[in-house]
Amino acid sequence: MEIAALADAVLRGERRALARAITLAESGRTDHRAQATDLLERLTKSGRQAIRIGLSGTPGVGKSTFIESFGLMLISQGLRVAVLAVDPSSKRTGGSILGDKTRMEQLSRAPEAFIRPSPSQSHLGGVARRTREAVALCEAAGFDVVLIETVGVGQSEAVVAELSDVFLLLLAPAGGDELQGVKRGIMEAADMIIVNKADGDLKATATRTCADYAGALRLLRKRPADPEGFPKALTVSALENDGLPKVWAEIGALVEWRRAHGHWTAHRARQARHWFEEELREMVLSRLQTPDARRMGAELGARVEAGDIAPARAAQQMLAAIWPEIAQAPESLDASRDSA
Ligand code: GDP
Repeated sequence: MEIAALADAVLRGERRALARAITLAESGRTDHRAQATDLLERLTKSGRQAIRIGLSGTPGVGKSTFIESFGLMLISQGLRVAVLAVDPSSKRTGGSILGDKTRMEQLSRAPEAFIRPSPSQSHLGGVARRTREAVALCEAAGFDVVLIETVGVGQSEAVVAELSDVFLLLLAPAGGDELQGVKRGIMEAADMIIVNKADGDLKATATRTCADYAGALRLLRKRPADPEGFPKALTVSALENDGLPKVWAEIGALVEWRRAHGHWTAHRARQARHWFEEELREMVLSRLQTPDARRMGAELGARVEAGDIAPARAAQQMLAAIWPEIAQAPESLDASRDSA
């Protein structure tokens, strides 16, 4: 299919076209990259915006149960929901956590939902770019809400925070020492901490855990893009469908406030700039990943280790080989820096 036709089909919300478009964006082939960039350029002109919700939490905390219940609730309100995953560690079976058919069984059957597994094993930068483009494609296809899920493996939470408008951290009921287990950076990125499994025997513990986290959140410094009372902690039971309308209402209130105060646009603008910088870094680094470059890097590395060549000289040689235009004039680069 021609790119223009594919763009039209995505804009009409055709799911198969959307799936194809995402596959194109996930491809590492140079010609596919060019086509994907062309496609995204055409599509972003539509100006459609979804609410992008990032969701993070360790395995077993109930993310897929939450997404299933929350997604079905949104659909019952007439909204269309897309679910994407960021899982750079997806060396597990089948390469993808969402590929497991038992997850989100009802949601995956709903015509108003679109569920896309994590792109196959790749380094975090690659996964981030692919997911970011998948988010943009889902938006263009007219989805109202895009849920971006990550498993708790450190770095990927930061990526999801950079991809989302609202970032949710899902936690399990636990004793007080668990609180220290959540990294400060993730706490600071969260707009809402949601303590799941607030049902049955776990309900009292969940309430206590929630109060602990609410206390911890109050100790964080105030963020300028937050209305009064945010970030906040809530309890839910994804399994029993309890507390989910409240979560959605809070997201709505937060989004509305940010839109009214210019933070929504500013946040997205800042993210766009962040992704530009990441993209540039990726492109430059990818020059070092070709087989030739790797071989040369290994050779030069060994010579540096042996004291055969100075580190700076080795780096210059390598750069000159892969990127002559840049390596040519290190002096003039220095000069432009000095005069800046
Ligand atoms: P994920 O690994 O974070 O996606 O977690 P899952 O959604 O697969 O859930 C892990 C386990 O926790 C499953 O056995 C779920 O049935 C259970 N679980 C999820 N949500 C709840 C809940 O709200 N209450 C209770 N009691 N169990 C839950």
